Amino acid sequence: MQVIPIDWQAIETVFLDMDGTLLDLHFDNHFWLEHMPQRYAEKHSLTLEEARKKLMDNYQSFAGSLNWYCLDHWQEILQMDIVGLKHEVADRIALRANVIEFLDYLRSKDKRLVLLTNAHQKTVDLKFEYVNLRPYFDRIITSHDIGLAKEESGFWQKLEQVEEFDKNSSLFIDDNLDVLNAADHYGVKHLLAIHQPDSKQATVKTSKFTAIKCYTQLMTN
Ligand SMILES: [Mg+2]
Repeated sequence: MQVIPIDWQAIETVFLDMDGTLLDLHFDNHFWLEHMPQRYAEKHSLTLEEARKKLMDNYQSFAGSLNWYCLDHWQEILQMDIVGLKHEVADRIALRANVIEFLDYLRSKDKRLVLLTNAHQKTVDLKFEYVNLRPYFDRIITSHDIGLAKEESGFWQKLEQVEEFDKNSSLFIDDNLDVLNAADHYGVKHLLAIHQPDSKQATVKTSKFTAIKCYTQLMTN
């Protein structure tokens, strides 16, 4: 597989997204687009189609906002036990290929590792019950800690106030192009996307951002 050249000596901090970047996005897509409509239909005595339509309207009205990522928000709006429902399909929570090897590689190079996720803390806790990545990170920051979603302008300025980093020596990997564009706009120098965030869906176009197919592409020296 083609090497993605990174001058590791020039990198001090590595910011990593969770869903679709370290973990297969299949779980999240399956949960929100399949499992949730099914359970919602059962609870409200709707057809699957009706439930789906109702949920999609809801999803669309909050996309890209902090509420979209907020478990408590959905719990309240939908009156569903989101954490409990996620546990029901937790066998789909899975690491993407070579993630552990990559995290070990970064640790061996003494990089500061920061998980930077839009996921709610309860979602992080739930996922780490199944794939515990916590020990690899120097710090875990959710956008709920910051008060803005990663794709919102001002996110990185607020992050600066709680986490010391140099944008010129930081690498940020994320599967969301809106998020990468916001980081680019702020000036994070090293940015990478993900070629296939959901293993059960097609690969994605990542415009100007180089996309990682496999983490071994970065483990070059
Ligand atoms: Mg993601």
